[in-house]
Amino acid sequence: MESISVLMTWPMSSYLETELEKRFKLLKLWSYPSLADFVKENEYVNSVKAVVGDTRIGADAQLIDSLPGLEIVSTYSVGLDKIDLRKCKQKGIRVTNTPDVLTDDVADLAIGLILAVFRRLCVCDGFVRNGSWKKGDFALTTKFSGKSVGIVGLGRIGSAIAKRAEAFGCKISYLSRTEKPYPNYKYYSNILDLATDCEVLVVACALTEETFHIINRQVIDALGPKGIVINIGRGCHIDESELVSALMEGRLGGAGLDVFEREPEVPEELLGLENVVVLPHVGTDTYETCDAMADLVVQNLEAYFQNKPLLTPVV
Ligand code: NAP
Repeated sequence: MESISVLMTWPMSSYLETELEKRFKLLKLWSYPSLADFVKENEYVNSVKAVVGDTRIGADAQLIDSLPGLEIVSTYSVGLDKIDLRKCKQKGIRVTNTPDVLTDDVADLAIGLILAVFRRLCVCDGFVRNGSWKKGDFALTTKFSGKSVGIVGLGRIGSAIAKRAEAFGCKISYLSRTEKPYPNYKYYSNILDLATDCEVLVVACALTEETFHIINRQVIDALGPKGIVINIGRGCHIDESELVSALMEGRLGGAGLDVFEREPEVPEELLGLENVVVLPHVGTDTYETCDAMADLVVQNLEAYFQNKPLLTPVV
């Protein structure tokens, strides 16, 4: 397989890079100023058979059209929103992702964000570090156990969040396109009804045309000044400017965000708010999970080029 050219879109994991280099001829898109420069200058461009991308740079129409020999996209992510799936289907390009291996980490982080927002963990930490504790006690915060939790998208990650929240004594409700076989969880087919009936709204669905800005002004207002929103899905699930105004105006109780509309840009206004916790898209970023994701990317490519069934096929 050493003669097979694989294009990696940016340096997402040094372990993955090493494992790919052991098996394939690895080309690095980030060694070139732009895709156009790569296409112009790299002598192997026509022989690239595989692309390895992720949530930052995936495989859009322009990249796919630049690689005439492309046969497979193996993404280092479970989300598929950075891949032009329609074009892949049209051109018969196979697509794989990394489901399941990352579910626990993202669900753990969602619970961490809920606790951090309600119990003001980051502010508390600063309070101790800057010596304020010596001058008096920290303010009271809000209890998480027993709250009603609404989950947008009860897939692998959404279900793992629900399971964890149940252990905190929370009442679980969810929105998805079809009702799931969980008798203890209340199903909603309408996001406004879900938001009205919960205190914590967690976004865990796939980003599609339908779920773009699914959390809009109306949804935020339905959640209300005591409610909090947690986003471990994708930034574009939330209308960010509406979120910012709701938080500034006190119409929403707080937010815990791992993802943003224009990463790595984060709205300046959020940085001054104590009821907001912002993370740099680290849902899956543990040693254990990143290595497991990398292994799955490589195993899918090996399976494809050895004419074996793909481990986690999407298309
Ligand atoms: P999954 O198992 O495919 O779950 C996605 C869920 O979204 C499905 O259960 C689907 O439910 C629901 N959904 C799709 N369209 C919907 C709609 N219009 N309304 C309501 N629900 C809808 O995927 P997963 O493994 O749980 O991952 C979910 C997402 O998490 C990924 O797509 C990714 O964007 C994000 N993620 C983020 C991080 C991070 O670092 N923050 C890491 C990993 C993943 P129905 O089909 O029943 O509607």
